[in-house]
Amino acid sequence: SNVPTITLNNGVTMPQLGYGVWQVPSDEAATAVATALGAGYRSIDTAAAYENEEGVGRALAGSGLPREELFVTTKLWNSEQGYDTTLRAFDASLDKLGLDFVDLYLIHWPMPDVDKYADTWRAFEKIYADGRARAIGVSNFQPAHLNRLIELGGTVPAVNQIELHPRLQQSVPRAFHADHGIATEAWSPLGQGGDLLEDPTLSGLARTYGKTVAQVVLRWHLQLGNVVIPKSVTPSRMRENIDVFDFELTGDDMARIAALNTDTRLGPDPDTMNWLG
Ligand code: NAD
Repeated sequence: SNVPTITLNNGVTMPQLGYGVWQVPSDEAATAVATALGAGYRSIDTAAAYENEEGVGRALAGSGLPREELFVTTKLWNSEQGYDTTLRAFDASLDKLGLDFVDLYLIHWPMPDVDKYADTWRAFEKIYADGRARAIGVSNFQPAHLNRLIELGGTVPAVNQIELHPRLQQSVPRAFHADHGIATEAWSPLGQGGDLLEDPTLSGLARTYGKTVAQVVLRWHLQLGNVVIPKSVTPSRMRENIDVFDFELTGDDMARIAALNTDTRLGPDPDTMNWLG
């Protein structure tokens, strides 16, 4: 496929565009991931909490693609934070995925009230040292949480996967990541397909380039340097979302999209998010 890669802080390369499977039931995920692989996606983003690692694993095994062409991300759920619980949860994820290693393992949320992410990170470093994750990172970490991990003096997270779309542009976290060599990965990159996709500025740009609004938004992310993992279970949209490498937004276009920021979250606030279930 023609998807560019970015180089993580440990030298591992990661496709800049992948396929996310939140809210896709396991059986459906098997079909959806098979379709995505057929459309050219090679990076798949799942999580223990999505309860579809088995379906994802079936699609990977059935694809016939060599393991080294795939980039598989999964995440540790909140209830499993802590050193021993993390090691056990990771074994369970690998087992469900049917893999010997993942490409990227992420702490799903910092859960500052629970205050176990530092111990959890030590378990992640063990998993990494054992070669069972090619890279380790976090999700939904604010700069303060990242600082605490960095101050442990061990491995700097390779990736922070955060909510990021034109209405929540995350300029402060993005600058922090850039300063520390952490890649920014955007979740809900399309704003979950809500009314963002009807925004008149974006619609105008879509008409200019003969592309869809979703394609313009994904292109904006890519030009900012973000990794994106759009989700769709509709084959035509899956193809549409990876067909974003034949046009380029101008500096003026990028500035017009920058002006759409309203700092509006669709998901929980990482500082107070404390779901264990
Ligand atoms: P998204 O921004 O990718 O939007 C997906 C929705 O947009 C689809 O369900 C569909 O309704 C619509 N859509 C997709 N392609 C479209 C197109 N071409 N045209 C029109 N509509 C289109 O939202 P998401 O699923 O929330 O986020 C993507 C991925 O990010 C998830 O699947 C998951 O892997 C990850 N994620 C991670 C976290 C986290 O806490 N780490 C949280 C949410 C999502």
